[in-house]
Amino acid sequence: MNSEDIKTLKRRLKTRCRIVLVPHKNPDGDAIGACLGLFHLLRQQGHEVIPVSPNDFPGFLKWMPGSESFEIYDHNTGRAKELLKNADLVFTLDFNSLDRSGSMATTLQDFDGTFVMIDHHQSPGTYAQITYSDPEMSSTCEMVYHFIQALGEGDRIDANIAACLYTGILTDTGSFKYAATTPTTMRVAAELMERGAPHTQIHRDIFDTNRPERLQLLGCALQNLVILKPYRTAYITLTQEELNRHDFRKGDTEGFVNYGLSLKDVVLAAIFIENRDEGIIKISLRSQGAFSVNEMARAHFEGGGHINAAGGRSTESIGDTVKRFESILPQYEKQLAG
Ligand code: 5GP
Ligand code: MN
Repeated sequence: MNSEDIKTLKRRLKTRCRIVLVPHKNPDGDAIGACLGLFHLLRQQGHEVIPVSPNDFPGFLKWMPGSESFEIYDHNTGRAKELLKNADLVFTLDFNSLDRSGSMATTLQDFDGTFVMIDHHQSPGTYAQITYSDPEMSSTCEMVYHFIQALGEGDRIDANIAACLYTGILTDTGSFKYAATTPTTMRVAAELMERGAPHTQIHRDIFDTNRPERLQLLGCALQNLVILKPYRTAYITLTQEELNRHDFRKGDTEGFVNYGLSLKDVVLAAIFIENRDEGIIKISLRSQGAFSVNEMARAHFEGGGHINAAGGRSTESIGDTVKRFESILPQYEKQLAG
C-alpha cells in the first residue's frame, strides 16, 4: 500500500471522524468480515463508525461480532442516506466499482467526502481518493490485516477483529485451498489465531449450520447437473420454483457451484439461479488453472470478479441463458479442451 496514502489516512484518523463502511451487494464472508474487522478497530480508536450494507446478508454470517450493527440500505434507505450524507470517510470493501453496491450506487456517487477502497478484484475503478487494490491478494480481509499493520495499529487486533478477518480469509480461499493462498496468507491466519480467532467455532458456524432444506436443495441442484465433456465444463440450474419448494433463504446456494468443479477433469463450472423478484438469472462461474472466468463474465454476462471465480447476470429466461452459455463455449474451445 502506498506510504503517502497511509500518512494521509493516519493524519485524518488523529481526529474523531464519522465513518461509513460499505460491502458489496449480496455480501459474502470476506466483505462482511472486512467491514466488521475495520469496524472494531476504528471504534477502538474512538471514531463514530457504522457499517451499511446495500442489502441483507446470509444467516451463517450473523454470528459475527458487530454484525447486529449493520444498517441495511434496502430496508432503511432514509437512515442510510442520512449516515452517508454526514460521513467524513466512506470505506468501500471487497468491491472496486460503485455499481457493485446495487441500489446504493447513486447515493454513493453523490458522496462528496473521502472514499477509501480496499479490494482484491481486477480492474479497479477511479472513484476513491485512497485506493488499496491488489488482485493478487487472497481476500480483502487479508488486505485489511496488512492495512492495520501499515497504520501501526497491529496491537489493537483483539479476538473480535481476529475472528472477523479470519472468516473472510477462510471463505475467500475456499478453506485455504485456492491458488491465491500464499505463505503470507497462512502467516496472517496464524497470527489471527494467536490473537484469539476461535478457528474451530468459525468453521462450524460457517459450514456446519445447515438446515435440512438446504441440503435437500443441494440434492436438487446436483440432480440438475449437466456435464459437457468436450469442453470440460459442468453447470447447474435452479429455477425459482425449485428454490421455493426447498424454502430457499439467502445464502443457501453459496458454494453449490464448486461441486461442478469437483468433477475430475472439469475446468469450468457454472450455476444459473433464477431470481423472479429481480427479474434476472444470477450466474456464478468458477474455473481451474489459466481459464479466466472474469473475462467470460465481463464479455457475456455483465459481470466480473477474479480469474478463477466470477459472477454475472442475464435478463433472459433461464433456458435461454443456458442456451447462450452453451453457444459461447466453442469460442473458448482451445483453452477449455486443454
Ligand atoms: P459469486 O459467484 O460467489 O457471487 O462471486 C464470485 C466473485 O465474482 C466474487 O469475487 C464477486 O465479487 C464477483 N462477482 C459476482 N457477481 C458479480 C457481478 O455481477 N459483477 C461483478 N463485477 N463481479 C461479480
Ligand atoms: Mn473477496
